Amino acid sequence: MPDITPALLDIRDLEVSFGAVRALKGVSLRVDEGEVVALVGANGAGKSTTLRTISGLSRPRAGRIHFAGNTIGGQAPARIVRLGISHSPEGRRLFGGLTVADNLRLGACTRKDHEGVARDSERMFALFPILKERLGQLAGTLSGGEQQQLALARAMMAAPRLLLLDEPSLGVAPLLVRHIFDALGELKKQGMTMLLVEQNIALALELADRAYVMRTGKVVLSGSSAELTRDDRVAQAYLGAGE
Ligand code: ATP
Repeated sequence: MPDITPALLDIRDLEVSFGAVRALKGVSLRVDEGEVVALVGANGAGKSTTLRTISGLSRPRAGRIHFAGNTIGGQAPARIVRLGISHSPEGRRLFGGLTVADNLRLGACTRKDHEGVARDSERMFALFPILKERLGQLAGTLSGGEQQQLALARAMMAAPRLLLLDEPSLGVAPLLVRHIFDALGELKKQGMTMLLVEQNIALALELADRAYVMRTGKVVLSGSSAELTRDDRVAQAYLGAGE
């Protein structure tokens, strides 16, 4: 029987170009409520472009993006945030001249439920205790791993229904990578829906329920993390990325 439950995020035939560069050539994928889905593949495969197009930072040339019953492809990023999508981007994009506390406050700036914001702050401090110790410190002076934790916590402060994560392990010392993925595992247990881009495929498949493998702007393989962990074609998708 076909699955007729509407997906939380449903992307069909998405195409994105930058001038003559066709970054996405018809990408289709779905993320259901409560799922963690990974997007993996070599550099330049189109993973970040997929996330950036979902959050309104790039415009699709063709295709559809549905989120929680709304068509969001090509909409303004602010509207997409209000609908419940929060993006923790590659390179973290923190406000380096502002404190940790201010960065967290900005993450929650669309919310009016002060009690909920206070509760979520405590939840983030439980996951990332270092942020509580560093509240008054300028974000730009944090280590790479601390900045990554702040970027994640800031994205979560918007109380999203879907969290987009771009390379949470990038520029983070190995020990802290483990800590960050443990925290993401805890968020998953709490029911957070995530779409994760990650170069470290072992970590990505460990956390995710399902994954899509991208190569040169297309999805070439998809399945449960358990299936893909055993599939030799996953490693092959990392070869010949420049074709
Ligand atoms: P990486 O891990 O290196 O970020 P990726 O899979 O996330 O890889 P994208 O960053 O989405 O890949 O890039 C897909 C393609 O689109 C690449 O060929 C890239 O050079 C191109 N591209 C992405 N953003 C732009 C842009 N703003 N202008 C021009 N080309 C771009």
